[in-house]
Amino acid sequence: MNILVINCGSSSIKAAVINAHNGSSVLTMKVERIHDKALITINGTSVDCPDSGHEAVLNFALPLIKKHLGDQKLSGVGHRVVHGGDKFDMPVLIDAEVENVIKNVSVLAPLHNPVNLLGITVAQKVFADLPHVAVFDTSFHQTMPRRAVTYALPKHLREKHSIRRYGFHGTSHEYVANLAAKHLKADLKTLRIITCHLGNGSSIAAVEYGRSVETSMGMTPLEGLVMGTRSGDVDPGALIHLANEEEMSVYELNQMLNKKSGLTGLSGVGNDMRDIIEKSSDGDDDCRLALQVFTHRLRKYIGAYSAVMGGVDAIVFTGGIGENSSVVRHRSTQRLDYLGAVINEDKNHDVKLSAENPVQEFGMNHSRVKLMAVKTNEQFAIAQETLRIIEEKNKVNTTPTIPIAVSGRHIHLTQEAVDALFGKGYELTVKAPLSQPKQFACNEQVTIVGPKNKIERVRILGPTRPKNQLEISRTDEFFIGIDAPVRASGKVENSPGIKLIGPVGEYQMKEGVICAWRHIHMTPEDADLFGVQDKDIVDVEVTNGLRPLTFGNVLVRVSPKYALEMHIDTDEANAAELPRYSEGVLNKTDGSAKLITKKNKN
Ligand code: AMP
Repeated sequence: MNILVINCGSSSIKAAVINAHNGSSVLTMKVERIHDKALITINGTSVDCPDSGHEAVLNFALPLIKKHLGDQKLSGVGHRVVHGGDKFDMPVLIDAEVENVIKNVSVLAPLHNPVNLLGITVAQKVFADLPHVAVFDTSFHQTMPRRAVTYALPKHLREKHSIRRYGFHGTSHEYVANLAAKHLKADLKTLRIITCHLGNGSSIAAVEYGRSVETSMGMTPLEGLVMGTRSGDVDPGALIHLANEEEMSVYELNQMLNKKSGLTGLSGVGNDMRDIIEKSSDGDDDCRLALQVFTHRLRKYIGAYSAVMGGVDAIVFTGGIGENSSVVRHRSTQRLDYLGAVINEDKNHDVKLSAENPVQEFGMNHSRVKLMAVKTNEQFAIAQETLRIIEEKNKVNTTPTIPIAVSGRHIHLTQEAVDALFGKGYELTVKAPLSQPKQFACNEQVTIVGPKNKIERVRILGPTRPKNQLEISRTDEFFIGIDAPVRASGKVENSPGIKLIGPVGEYQMKEGVICAWRHIHMTPEDADLFGVQDKDIVDVEVTNGLRPLTFGNVLVRVSPKYALEMHIDTDEANAAELPRYSEGVLNKTDGSAKLITKKNKN
């Protein structure tokens, strides 16, 4: 399962062929000096590129990869895309619509998205027969709550220009949080983790029970921690002051904040933390200050994020600095005892991460908060995500689709009830046939009267049955004042009754009010196909809906009289944000069935 991972950046292009199962690398390629005498290094060998500029270089470099791979097959291509705006909360298979959205959010990342897109366009030409997947730096942070993403700026400007906090480095934060949970033998959904990605670009995230709830980068990767050449947090008033006093232009301010600040601006010796640490121990005061500001800001954020999550179980260090600098880990985690995080200086000093040993703890054994250094691997993470999306797509294409219908409130009546409500010997009339054979929606409707309220025009479904049965949602129950059980259709014993009013008379149902248990109707042939039996209870995973969701406890109902269809009620459809009708596929995995809705384009 080899995946080509492409990271087409503004000043360099990196590509690698990664085994998505074990992370081993089959091929690596790097292109530097894209705009002037581009140099390609592929598996350690340098190749001069005759052209310069992104498009020409990509057109030369990507076919080289194909040539180097020879007979080795690729399963797909994963593209790192910096900005997904608020449109993507997970990786997606690239189609024309996705490309268009990436293009539209380019205004938020003008240096990155256009070149990311170029990488996609050229790779699609060179690897035309493969699926291409976009993996966004922003998507992991799409779970941040409104209060964390909103800047206190005028509403009309925020809305007009999509100004909000998005967060970046999501692939890395998610990857190391998962590795940390695995190391602790705990479910990520039970942990509060602070992940510190400290590299040339740095950011910190609060990962609460598996979801990002805060991160330090904002609308752009400029906010937050001190970085190699970027300032991180700075009072916007200082910039206004500089614009006034120094007459600095927008361009100059941008250059200063992104290229000349951070460790570079503070230290005067450049952006490499190794040099800064060395010079600071030689007594260079600017380098000492750079290290102090860097670690002070980091510690400040760690405190803030443990407050945001109401506590913390693990603090994870990653990225070139986080993985390699015991000095930075020491300075940013000392005096965190009040949080329950106690560093073990020896262990911290001895941290040595490798592909075989990607996680190491450096806290005291009694430290309640685990301190960990974790080796990040964004290429592997992108390869894994790419393969996951491709496999999901294949499932959708190879398993039969089934419709999911949302059933509104309805009632099945006995002939006795029909007689009382519509007149002796009355026959229900057909308004429309239903998907289940011989079933139909009737023209006739009744009013149901509960202790608190009544609901008019409840549709009768025909033909008449041996038992009365009213199927309503929990919201309806609450409204009319009845507490009815969640039951399979037909099981009405000991359920509440209700008064019905028809055009001719009233009828008191003694029992029969239920909230229908979500279920799938299928024929015995369908059941064979899916490997399930009547009364099986399965998990149903809805993917590619508006958001990921799994329905537990779905009842399988098998009869030759049925047609394949899943029924959920209006409450469930609303909660799941499913449209009134969707299609899906069902496949049995590990004893549970999975239902995957087809991509909902609405
Ligand atoms: P990254 O962007 O994650 O590749 O991180 C690159 C940065 O990691 C470099 O610019 C260095 O500042 C830093 N780095 C790498 N090794 C060390 C080390 N042993 N000590 C301190 N910083 C390091």
